[in-house]
Amino acid sequence: MRKQIAAANWKMNLNQQEAKDLLTNILDKLPKLTDNQQVVFSIPAIYLSNAVQQIGGISNVFVAAQNCHQNSNGAFTGEISAPMYSSVGVNHIVIGHSERREYFAESDVLLAEKVNAVLANNSTPIFCCGEPLAIREAGTQNAFVETQLINSLFHLTPEQLLKVVIAYEPIWAIGTGKTASSAQAQEIHAFIRSVLATKYGADIADQISILYGGSVKAANAVELFSQPDVDGGLVGGASLIATEFTAIINALQ
Ligand code: PEP
Repeated sequence: MRKQIAAANWKMNLNQQEAKDLLTNILDKLPKLTDNQQVVFSIPAIYLSNAVQQIGGISNVFVAAQNCHQNSNGAFTGEISAPMYSSVGVNHIVIGHSERREYFAESDVLLAEKVNAVLANNSTPIFCCGEPLAIREAGTQNAFVETQLINSLFHLTPEQLLKVVIAYEPIWAIGTGKTASSAQAQEIHAFIRSVLATKYGADIADQISILYGGSVKAANAVELFSQPDVDGGLVGGASLIATEFTAIINALQ
């Protein structure tokens, strides 16, 4: 059974005390997670070590970095590598968020290298894909997302792919308050799974968690997560509000 995951993406928000308080408030209300449910906090790098301590090994609760460098060490001032993250207990890394693609010019080819770096370190990449508004309006979102998957993931072996979590995030729905309808989300998630099945076989495709991201909140999480191919969410704005994110965790199937 594939994992159902509620992943917070705090982006570049909160000071140290605010981060600590938010995590405390969410952990205080954390429901008992089943074996196939996970909660992931993708938070600013500077707070990761503290968050690892705060979580203290609660099962199925993890922290994630929001990015990493494709090399494991070297003269890359200001960068942080996957092995550095795992040395402080961080074994999930978000790769290819649309904000990284847009503001830091991260290409599919670079993201393939970053996915490799995360996997080489035995960590879990949360690989983001998704189309901009113009592509959705042209009706070519499937081809667009398929190309992202082919370019950044399809060099992986089946064993490697099984370690990847995919987050489908239509750019027009991120931070805009505009959510894809549950039908739109289901349609493209099913398409993504079919693309994976064509390349890797249905058995492997069925085991990959595909999260939806784009203005997920307490009010729409239950309906989105009840779609058969939606395995949870990557949540930005609503993950900064303890009551909202707690309700989203509770919406996991
Ligand atoms: C995100 O940051 O990945 C995201 C989906 O943001 P929001 O939930 O605010 O749309």
